[in-house]
Amino acid sequence: MVVSDTFARPLRNLRLSVTDRCNLRCQYCMPERDYAWLPRKDILDFEEVSALVDVFAQLGVDKVRLTGGEPLVRRDLAELVRLIAAKPAIRDLAMTTNGVLLAEQAPALKTAGLRRVTVSLDTLNAGRFRELTRFDDHPKVLSGIEAAARAGFESVKIDTVVIRGVNDDELVALLAFGKSAGAEVRFIEYMDVGGATRWSRDRVVSRADMLGTLARHYGPIEPVSETTSAPAERFRLSDGTVFGIIASTTAPFCRSCDRSRLTADGLWYLCLYAPNGTDLRGPLRAGASREGLRGLIESTWRARSDRGAEERLGMRNRSPLVPLTTLKGDPHLEMHTRGG
Ligand code: SAM
Repeated sequence: MVVSDTFARPLRNLRLSVTDRCNLRCQYCMPERDYAWLPRKDILDFEEVSALVDVFAQLGVDKVRLTGGEPLVRRDLAELVRLIAAKPAIRDLAMTTNGVLLAEQAPALKTAGLRRVTVSLDTLNAGRFRELTRFDDHPKVLSGIEAAARAGFESVKIDTVVIRGVNDDELVALLAFGKSAGAEVRFIEYMDVGGATRWSRDRVVSRADMLGTLARHYGPIEPVSETTSAPAERFRLSDGTVFGIIASTTAPFCRSCDRSRLTADGLWYLCLYAPNGTDLRGPLRAGASREGLRGLIESTWRARSDRGAEERLGMRNRSPLVPLTTLKGDPHLEMHTRGG
């Protein structure tokens, strides 16, 4: 069964934010000193997450990505991986991580059934990493990428948020690093999502700018033609290296977006930019039947009309999505709560 929304977009891709906590403080995501955290008692346990995934799977979800916050700070994450990987309906199980704890956990995650890993890496320079994240963990991230390559996942990717004046001079070096590490690199445009309180239009490096920089170094770049709902458009250099660009800010792809997000405390968001989510924890803990939950999820998706990034594109004076004072009052508005 596949359930479609008002724009015929299927419910297929579920991002599970397993924690709102993170062990880095990236300047484009968590730049503040203090945060309001989700109450511990509200965090879904693995059985609850697994039960909700079963309901989503009945409605067509076949791809799940674990994210956060930082998913590897959630204790015993491999156990959740094992529960989800065992579901025949879930044909793809992936994770997005900052890589800090990956070296120690990669083998267990692979054994538990995790198929693909994406590691966020914004710079090859350890000093710059510290400025960007406030932590000295660059060597750990690099070891994490190596360990993931050794562990034998179906794919290891590297995600880089490109920010003007911060790391836009590293595109060529990051592609070379990705090639040597056996990891496809995806460059992400800086997004004005909740939590990105330092965002401004002039700090966004557009897809066109990135392609221009890379073409000046590598020569002609050709698009890889494919029809998927994946956010990255893929390109090939003349030496065969393939990379992706996620142009969420200047060329959003709402029309093919089949993604939704479940927070660690069971709120379900249909769009990164959506002001509100649907509470699934409440009904689940109140003993709702699977049919009841399925009905709630199905009717919510069928009514979906979000085009958050496209609507932002049309704005004349664009500034950070949510003011800091509002963010402090509601952690659900943060990217690190919703999961990127
Ligand atoms: N902690 C994990 C990590 O670092 O990959 C997973 C969570 S993080 C929120 C998921 C992704 O969101 C990362 O690739 C991160 O770079 C991206 N992200 C966060 N804030 C962003 C922003 N303002 N613009 C674009 N991407 C952003």
